[in-house]
Amino acid sequence: MKELSRKRILVTGGAGFLGSHLCERLVMQGHDVLCVDNFYTGTKDNIAPLLDCANFELMRHDVTFPLYVEVDEIYNLACPASPIHYQHDPVQTTKTSVHGAINMLGLAKRVKAKIFQASTSEVYGDALVHPQTEDYWGHVNPIGPRSCYDEGKRCAETLFMDYRRQHGLSIRIARIFNTYGPRMHPSDGRVVSNFMMQALRGEPLTLYGDGSQTRSFCYVDDMIDAIIRLMNVDDDPGGPVNLGNPHEVTMREIARRIVTITGSASPLELHPLPTDDPWHRQPDISRARELLGWQPRTSLDDGLLETAHYFRARMQASTELSAAAVGEFAATLSPRPL
Ligand code: NAD
Ligand code: UDP
Ligand code: UDP
Repeated sequence: MKELSRKRILVTGGAGFLGSHLCERLVMQGHDVLCVDNFYTGTKDNIAPLLDCANFELMRHDVTFPLYVEVDEIYNLACPASPIHYQHDPVQTTKTSVHGAINMLGLAKRVKAKIFQASTSEVYGDALVHPQTEDYWGHVNPIGPRSCYDEGKRCAETLFMDYRRQHGLSIRIARIFNTYGPRMHPSDGRVVSNFMMQALRGEPLTLYGDGSQTRSFCYVDDMIDAIIRLMNVDDDPGGPVNLGNPHEVTMREIARRIVTITGSASPLELHPLPTDDPWHRQPDISRARELLGWQPRTSLDDGLLETAHYFRARMQASTELSAAAVGEFAATLSPRPL
């Protein structure tokens, strides 16, 4: 690994779940970080602690429009990641992946910056190869409700590889598998945040299908380690690298663990499986292990416990806030005449 010297780094999607952790880590390393976000799914709260740091800057901007700044490195994370968010405005999702990639690649080309793309395990679709290796081309429905995301991300990978071949850009592509942890949006509809919030509120956990479908969950701190290592590794990987935790679990199992960890009495409630929901998902991370000397260190139970602390604290803070707001509002009411 190269010694990390001070750099000007652009993080698109920096106010989101992964982006805010990445900004935090890069600011702590002493880099000058420019966070660009249109707040489509991210929030200022996620980066609030960074706003006072001299080496952090926030810019509201939509990456589907050109951006002219001077930077040494670009991490391109801008894109809604949860199915309900990316399906809310599917045309904008494809635009963000494709036009966003073109603009960020054009920027990287002009300023000769190294550029990282947050790709996804969704490029494998409903995979017929298990676990998924980088040389598997995938099994993706091009016209379904998930296609705006899956095909958008696939096209972005194509653009990254073509800018590398055609213009000699230095690129990094990470195929990120399901990642969870503090700062996930409580209502983004992803399984960990849904189950956590439902368990903490004592509501039924909404299990889709019969719960036998699998995913492999990586804790956010491990993922941020891997992303930064991939950006800084000397050897050009020459193509995408899977990043994730190979520990595979069924959705029924993740529900059971979350109920136990939160001490909840919530029952399970079965719902229909969404269209094109992938059946199995597990990364083969041999390439990341070899190239980056990296592997995830956080166990699923430890990561879920940290995440539960976060959601519990958030719930308490919002209850206190609304109680205070009710108090303030009540104080403004004039006393009723007797
Ligand atoms: P997120 O929704 O929390 O963050 C995405 C951020 O991008 C948000 O802050 C959002 O406001 C911003 N954004 C969206 N469209 C934009 C636009 N047009 N211009 C500027 N900003 C825009 O999601 P996340 O989980 O942090 O995911 C970050 C990246 O990692 C995404 O590209 C996602 O596809 C990828 N990824 C995440 C996971 C995961 O499990 N979290 C898995 C695979 C890939
Ligand atoms: N671009 C940008 N910032 C820059 C340079 C380019 O946003 O600093 C955008 C620009 O709008 C262009 C896209 O990146 O549409 C692709 O740029 P490139 O130079 O690769 O292609 P061209 O401008 O020739 O279409
Ligand atoms: N899921 C579920 N209940 C929920 C939300 C999701 O059973 O409340 C399932 C979903 O059908 C999928 C898995 O959990 O099989 C992971 O879903 P998520 O949206 O978190 O991620 P993705 O499908 O993009 O991997």
